[in-house]
Amino acid sequence: MNYETVIGLEVHAQLLTNSKMFCSCNAVYQDAPPNTVVCEVCMGMPGALPVINRRAVELVIKTGLALDCTISELTKFDRKNYPYPDLMKGYQISQYDRPIALDGELAIDSGGDKKLAGITRVHLEEDTARLLHRIELDGTGYSLLDINRAGVPLMEIVSEPDMRAPEEARSYLIKLRTILRYLGVSTANMEEGSFRCDANVSLRPAGSSELGAKVEVKNMNSFRSVYNALEYEIARQTQLLEQGGRIEQETRGWVEDRDVTVSQRTKEYASDYRYFPEPDLPPLVIDAVWVDEIRESMPELPDAREARFVEEFGLPVYDTGLLTSSKSTADFFEAVLSARAPNGKDSRQTAKAVSNWILGELTRLMNAEGVGITQLKLQPVHILELLDLIDDGTLSSSMAKTVFETVFETGRSPRQIAEADGMAQIVDAQSLRPAVDQAISSNPKPVADYLSGKETAVRFLVGQVMKLTRGKANPNLVSEMVKESLDARR
Ligand code: ADP
Ligand code: ZN
Ligand code: MG
Repeated sequence: MNYETVIGLEVHAQLLTNSKMFCSCNAVYQDAPPNTVVCEVCMGMPGALPVINRRAVELVIKTGLALDCTISELTKFDRKNYPYPDLMKGYQISQYDRPIALDGELAIDSGGDKKLAGITRVHLEEDTARLLHRIELDGTGYSLLDINRAGVPLMEIVSEPDMRAPEEARSYLIKLRTILRYLGVSTANMEEGSFRCDANVSLRPAGSSELGAKVEVKNMNSFRSVYNALEYEIARQTQLLEQGGRIEQETRGWVEDRDVTVSQRTKEYASDYRYFPEPDLPPLVIDAVWVDEIRESMPELPDAREARFVEEFGLPVYDTGLLTSSKSTADFFEAVLSARAPNGKDSRQTAKAVSNWILGELTRLMNAEGVGITQLKLQPVHILELLDLIDDGTLSSSMAKTVFETVFETGRSPRQIAEADGMAQIVDAQSLRPAVDQAISSNPKPVADYLSGKETAVRFLVGQVMKLTRGKANPNLVSEMVKESLDARR
């Protein structure tokens, strides 16, 4: 039997607000000592009343709009009851039947083609406290509770079961993360836990339109573990079905160091949570004018920006995909092109060279030094200056790389560096003559090769001249001079 994989993803993203969801505690708690960023409300003291964080609602609306959702005119909060010790009140304030945003879509990559994955809903809730499980050397186990995270605004984005392979799930997550970062609504960092994914996966006979029983996998803390967990789960379910077994609807946890999923509990259903409207909070009417204002304030999103880069600058899709993969990279690229008109060329002619420098040398140096594109000493205009120096023959391409590195390290201008370090390319034949003569007189074999018809021997001799001039000679000029000298000997 051939099976089709069906995957639906639930993503929780912490929102970048100043204060927590229902109290005025600082929402930035990561570096605070345990249990210091707390108050009556987020500790769940009886009688303490929640107040809705307006900014958090705004960020969810923004996300909903970016995902082409319908924004509800009327939304409300509900109590989700469950018995874990990480819930301070014994319930979580979440949203049940009236989420802020509904019914959207996200364009993902599917084997090189674009495909739309449905977004079921985007809703707002509060994060839980953090439990740390410890085991002493003598085997005694205990748990520590850090309440700082409790009450931090959390947005849940639920997809339709539209992904058909782990690769599509990965693409969905990358795309979603990019959008959240463009919008500035979340740091969306999976390793830090500000972007968490539960992956639901089921199999069904190929061609069937019914959904099979699904397994929900938790505890993945990187894109790679989501991918691996899905691969593992698909193999496990396939094997089980082929042996005539049945898939139990359950929750499984990914165990990173063993590369397996293990059963955690049988799946709860909505009725287990005893949802009911949160009596301590009023329903929320979302004003259409407010939604329009939020829409107006949104940045250009990655897909639109990519299409514009192709159209406006004639760049290949490979380049535009990388340039728009983060807003700051795309901003930097555009900052270079708009810094000034470069040497009478238009931005379309310059764009590819600029893109090459950003995606090549700049990315290499940033990775090597662990520096982000918003922290650079190198200024956008420096790239144009460097292109000018290459263009007018002052710098060879290998010299330009050396200069670029110095600009990167010091923030000094390329022209300054080239002049101070005496790097200007040697472009007059007069000063190159001695090196050309020396290369020819001390390499009789390549010279003989050339004279007997082996044209490629020129390359070796040019290389020798470059060495003698420590890379400063203009290679085209050297090549011409070498050929001339050799041809004169025929
Ligand atoms: P639950 O009631 O278990 O929370 P939902 O219907 O709310 O289930 O769906 C939760 C997530 O699981 C959604 O992302 C949805 O797309 C996905 N999902 C639902 N059914 C399946 C299925 N049969 N196979 C894979 N994913 C599924
Ligand atoms: Zn608080
Ligand atoms: Mg659900």
